[in-house]
Parts: sequence; C-alpha cells; structure tokens
Amino acid sequence: MLDFKLTEHQVDEAAGDEAKDTLYDLIIIGGGPAGLTAAIYAGRARLKTLVLGGSLPGGQPSNTDLVDNYPGFPESIEGPALAQQFQQQAERFDAQIKMEVVTRVDFSASPFVVWTHSGEYRGRSVIVATGAEPRHLGVPGEERFFGRGVSACATCDGFFYRDKTVVVVGGGDSAVTEALFLTRFAREVIVIHRRDALRATKINQERALANPKLRFVWDSVVEEVLGEKTVTGVQIRNVKTGETSLIETDGVFVYIGMNPRTETFAGQLELDEQGYIVSDRRQRTSVPGVFVAGDVQDPLYRQIVVAAGSGAIAAMEVEKFLEEYPKK
Ligand code: NAP
Repeated sequence: MLDFKLTEHQVDEAAGDEAKDTLYDLIIIGGGPAGLTAAIYAGRARLKTLVLGGSLPGGQPSNTDLVDNYPGFPESIEGPALAQQFQQQAERFDAQIKMEVVTRVDFSASPFVVWTHSGEYRGRSVIVATGAEPRHLGVPGEERFFGRGVSACATCDGFFYRDKTVVVVGGGDSAVTEALFLTRFAREVIVIHRRDALRATKINQERALANPKLRFVWDSVVEEVLGEKTVTGVQIRNVKTGETSLIETDGVFVYIGMNPRTETFAGQLELDEQGYIVSDRRQRTSVPGVFVAGDVQDPLYRQIVVAAGSGAIAAMEVEKFLEEYPKK
C-alpha cells in the first residue's frame, strides 16, 4: 500500500523571484487525452498550468485513424481532429502548452523540478500523463527495418502501401482497426495472430471478418522480418504444430500492445512489476503532490474516455492538494 503523508514534503521557502517565473501551480507531463483533460480542469480552477506535451501533439489519438467510441461524436471523429480539439479547449482556459520532452525529474522535494532539453521548470504539483508506447516484437530484422518497412503507425505509413501486401501482427483492437484502415490502400492485409481467437471487441471482429481484403493467419508468431534492402517477407511459426513458413509481404505493422512510458520516473515514483505507476483511486502516487493519469497507470482499459476521466480526477485532486499548501 502507498503511504500518503503530506507533511513529508516541505515547500522550498528559499525560492527567489527568478525561480518564480518558471514556478507553476501544476506541471502536466504529457499532452494526450489525460494530460489535456487535466489541463482543461486545472485552467478552469485558475491554476497556473504548464503542459509539457512531448513530441507527439495530442498523444496517441494523433496516430489513430477514426475514433468511434468517444461520446459526443455520433458519426465518429478522426483521431488527430479530436486531439486538436482537446488542445484548443485546454488553451482556451489558459494552460500553457510546450512541445518539450521531459528528460529528468526531481520529486524529492517540493516545488518539484522537471527538466526538458530546453529548460527547467518547477511545479507545486505534477500530473504524470506520459501514456504508453507500442511494444516491439523483438525478433531479428524488426529494428533494422523499423521506419523502412516495419511500422507501428498505419495512419502515418499506410499510404506507402498502395496496392501492396502488408502484414499486421496482433489480435487486439489496435491490430484489427489498423488492419481495416490499411485495406483502404493495400491489395491484401494479412493479420498474423498468436491464438485462434481475436481479443478485439465484437464490432471490430465483425468488420474485420467481413472485409474481403483481410486474411487471417491463426496460431502463429513472427520469428523474423526478412529482406535485403527492403522488407520482402516474414518467417512465421505455427505455435500448435511448430511448423515454420514464409509469408511474402512489403510491410509489417506491429500492434501487440503497449508499454507504459515510465523510464524517467524510475526511482522517483513507485512502479508495479510491469512498469506502470502505482496510484490509488484518487490518482495519487507514492509522492504527495505528484498525481498520475491515463495509460501510464492503466494496464487494463486504455480508452480515450477513461484516460480523460482520470485526467479530470487528477486535476481536481491537485486543486485540493494545493489548498493545503501556502502560495508564495
Ligand atoms: P491489446 O488489447 O493488449 O492486444 C495486444 C494483442 O497483441 C493481443 O491480441 C495479444 O495476443 C497480441 N500480442 C501481445 N504480445 C504479443 C507477442 N509478443 N507476439 C504476438 N502477439 C502478441 O493491445 P491493443 O490492441 O493495442 O489495445 C490496447 C487497448 O486499447 C485495449 O484496451 C483496446 O481495447 C484499446 N483500443 C480500442 C480501440 C477501439 O476501437 N475501441 C482501438 C485501439 C485500441 P493475445 O490476444 O493472445 O494476448
């Protein structure tokens, strides 16, 4: 269990005027749905808020074709458009958004310190909302061809596979929705899944199984990405029979789940055995004043609406936390 003792952290009374310029009530690390929702709530609470948005404006939805299940958009909405609207809404409430990647943090005393390549920022509170990143297969050929035939972003790279054959690895919602997206360009999309049943939601399964351009290879794992200058195929192994075979393809899209982005916080915040940030129902971490929201603390649901909800909770908890500390 986490031990929340607010008094363990002392506000640094020695902070001078110069430091106050970069001193925020709240620093949000991550500019996806969780971070931007937190920024909307913090802005409305009139907290001086900085969002350090990393390298991908809007977070994971920016790499998504269509979002079908975010309430309020009955006809679905394009992922990048939704991300942009989150950002505009946060800016309307005066959140300052900088697309900077956080390289280091010091949560050992308050105000907390956050470093990026461009500078140093101090926050009376922090919300970590760094999300998750695509898992890799870890097989020969994958790294060599990454970005040149192996991809984790159909929205970014699908266009290059017009009338070609592509392979998608995985059986979850990401694999299935992105495979469906790729059928707009590719001649054939082959989904390779390690089991004989998809993990994806029923509606996505129905759409996939009804699509004539999609073909499934069940019970199989990719053992190697093959090619000389470009990708020409994958070697697969049937996990039931042990038989290996070759599938010719021009590209490989890997959608086998996500890993939480927590490297920067190791040693600063309590992480679980999978690397997710440990928190309670109020989005509090092991450090009082540091909160967490979104996929970086969520191995289970990983939905935009859930991330946004946890961002709202985190920001409301920040408000309560700051009420207990004197403003300088
Ligand atoms: P996921 O649900 O964890 O699925 C990962 C898939 O990859 C699983 O089918 C898994 O196989 C397979 N896999 C894992 N490791 C593998 C390996 N080493 N080799 C081969 N296959 C491997 O991940 P996700 O698809 O990225 O989805 C993440 C979350 O986002 C989910 O909650 C999902 O519902 C949500 N999402 C929703 C939508 C939507 O349209 N609503 C779209 C995208 C994502 P097993 O099935 O055998 O475990």
